[in-house]
Amino acid sequence: MNENETNWGIAGHEWAVDYLRRSLLNERGAHAYLFAGPAHIGKSLLALRLAQALVCELGGPDPCRTCRGCKRAAKGNHPDVRTMSLEHQAAAAATSTKADAARSKELKIGTIREWQRDIDLRPFEARRRVFILEDADALNESAANAMLKTLEEPPPYAVLILVAHGAGDLLPTIVSRCRVLRLRPLPRKTVAHTLQQRYNVATEDAELVAAWSGGRIGWAIASVENPDLLDQQQQRLDELVRLGVASRVERMRWAEERAKEYRGEAGAAVEWVRLWQSWWRDVLLVRAGNPHAITHLDRRHELEELAQTVSLDQVQRFLQQLDAVHEQLAANVNPQLAFENVTLHVPA
Ligand SMILES: [Zn+2]
Repeated sequence: MNENETNWGIAGHEWAVDYLRRSLLNERGAHAYLFAGPAHIGKSLLALRLAQALVCELGGPDPCRTCRGCKRAAKGNHPDVRTMSLEHQAAAAATSTKADAARSKELKIGTIREWQRDIDLRPFEARRRVFILEDADALNESAANAMLKTLEEPPPYAVLILVAHGAGDLLPTIVSRCRVLRLRPLPRKTVAHTLQQRYNVATEDAELVAAWSGGRIGWAIASVENPDLLDQQQQRLDELVRLGVASRVERMRWAEERAKEYRGEAGAAVEWVRLWQSWWRDVLLVRAGNPHAITHLDRRHELEELAQTVSLDQVQRFLQQLDAVHEQLAANVNPQLAFENVTLHVPA
């Protein structure tokens, strides 16, 4: 079923929309869902649409997106649709004395308890109360255990939607109590098509942004709405390419900057690593005689030149080191060491 027929307005993920519609039609749905998958692929929008379908004044299973219920849910001010996330936690902390929570990378038990007090309230206007927990993979252990209690015995009117970047970081006991929908990055052509149809992007640009997005539709849309992001991406790539011939001092300085960035906002530093991975994967693809699958379509000549100067073995080893950076950061290795280690081993 395509997006126009269902009114969910979701690019891709047709099977997930179809599944949710059917579960709403057949048995009024589940009490807890978990939407898991990489960042920026549409999980939060899917959660919002499900919430709208549950509180829509026309009764679902599709959100009409025009009634008062749907509109207020979208604006975040429906009394029966509640969202909690690291960002909400930080905003609440900033207005109180709990300053330590303001920059936390974990969802804390106090935050979850407050949210649970809300869950105990009966619906104000709709038939259901919907609770969206973003960043569910950031629940710390005690917060996760507190969540379990609600998942085991949710009030009959409550629907919980957990949104997580990877289900692997969640307690298995939490995962097992949810209907799990694992969402994948969208096919490149779905992203390109969406950019052309909805945002009037020219074909060639749409294909390039779609390739860059790696199937992350949210990233692609943000880039089209804010072209500075695309310029920034090109500048970053230039910088990464230059690192291959930079002095040791320059490399160390780069690692220091990334570490500083990581301590502020982890996502920004991780984005650099991702970009670097896409670049060297392209070098591999070009070497393998498959240049049509590359991400950096606009730099094919540069990639071809590079592919001739480095060995396959070097590239594969470097890609493994880039992979390891993600693991090291997740394991709380000193970020500066992690970035230094990788920047000293760029194939050249
Ligand atoms: Zn509606």
